Amino acid sequence: MSDRSFLQWPFFDEVHRDLADQVDAWATKELADLDHSNVDETCKFLVKALGDAGWLKLSAVDPTDQGSKIDVRSLCIMRETLARHDGLADFAFAMQGLGTGCISLFGSEAQKTEWLTKTRAGEALSAFALSEPASGSDVANMAMTAVRDGDDYVLNGEKTWISNGGIADVYCVFARTGEAPGAKGLSVFIVPADTPGLEIAERLEVVAPHPLARLAFKDCRIPASAMIGNPGEGFRIAMSVLDVFRSTVAAAALGFARRALDESLSRVSDRELFGAPMSDLQMVQGHIADMALDVDAAALLVYRAAWLKDQGAPRVSREAAMAKLYATDHAQDVIDKAVQLHGGDGVRKGHIVESLYREIRALRIYEGASDVQKVVIARQTLANSKGV
Ligand SMILES: Cc1cc2nc3c(=O)[nH]c(=O)nc-3n(C[C@H](O)[C@H](O)[C@H](O)COP(=O)(O)OP(=O)(O)OC[C@H]3O[C@@H](n4cnc5c(N)ncnc54)[C@H](O)[C@@H]3O)c2cc1C
Repeated sequence: MSDRSFLQWPFFDEVHRDLADQVDAWATKELADLDHSNVDETCKFLVKALGDAGWLKLSAVDPTDQGSKIDVRSLCIMRETLARHDGLADFAFAMQGLGTGCISLFGSEAQKTEWLTKTRAGEALSAFALSEPASGSDVANMAMTAVRDGDDYVLNGEKTWISNGGIADVYCVFARTGEAPGAKGLSVFIVPADTPGLEIAERLEVVAPHPLARLAFKDCRIPASAMIGNPGEGFRIAMSVLDVFRSTVAAAALGFARRALDESLSRVSDRELFGAPMSDLQMVQGHIADMALDVDAAALLVYRAAWLKDQGAPRVSREAAMAKLYATDHAQDVIDKAVQLHGGDGVRKGHIVESLYREIRALRIYEGASDVQKVVIARQTLANSKGV
């Protein structure tokens, strides 16, 4: 049984505690022994299942309610819980939110109605297409272009590392529209997957399999009404979306770490070494203490960032960066210790801690690598000190 005491922290309301119980019960029933042999089909199945159960309503704003907002604590509880049960289920849920984040935060009523109605029901899969071969961390260096032609824009270029690439029904695509050099000359567009000129150039395989692709845009024509927000706002929109979703990446890492700790607690209680349970060995206790401390520290940072955003803070870049940096880097440490405590079983293919060991790694790279989070934290801390 996973530690639930954090739910009593003052960051949460009753609705969050109920959500944590309900999604945990759902995941226990629905995600046990999920077959991952075909990740595309499993992700499509998971999106449908998450939609049917109503969980995807939390992934985006309600297009029928103009006052509707994304509740970041609910997103984090969902991701932490799903990640604790099954990494691909967390991925499927997360992408419905990240993929439509631009529409939720900046879309017109018509854009919200057209797309969020479907993604929140699990009837359409979405993707967030920002990265390019030469501009991952350096987003402002983006090369892909969108050129105005009458009532249309024509897109040319490439996107890579796009999660849900190949199975998404809709992509939110960033491109250079050229209002100004660098970051101020980018815009973002809704591009349905069946738009002529959009091709899946390559499927990408990674250590923990997820649907991932490089996309090619060749004279891909879309109506000007497909732009989200205004020309030149793309970078600001991307950063605002990441401001919400970075804390949720941290929450997923927390879920992986909590599972690793849970598995380790069972292991050290059940296995006997030198005539006594492993948990009697002081060095084992040292590992358990480090793991428990990392999990709680990560949880405090994750739910602080989420709570602050839900209180209406316009930007929580520093807090979200702290949560992502700490939770992902330390989940790696926690999982590594779990592998160690499991001995040979820990590196055996198919063992849960072996899959967590592969699953956690990419979270320290995407949505801003750990090094980038340090830059964000340092810049903000230095700027704040000048205001003192
Ligand atoms: C599994 C996975 C899923 C992804 N999903 C998506 C997606 O859905 N949509 C999308 O748009 N992108 C996605 N990405 C892309 C991801 O966001 C980029 O990989 C990431 O931004 C890093 O870019 P890069 O790979 O080009 O590495 P680079 O930008 O070349 O960076 C390489 C390394 O340089 C270091 N570094 C970078 N900047 C700094 C700095 N300022 N100071 C110090 N060191 C620095 C970091 O260690 C970094 O890891 C995904 C990536 C992966 C691996």
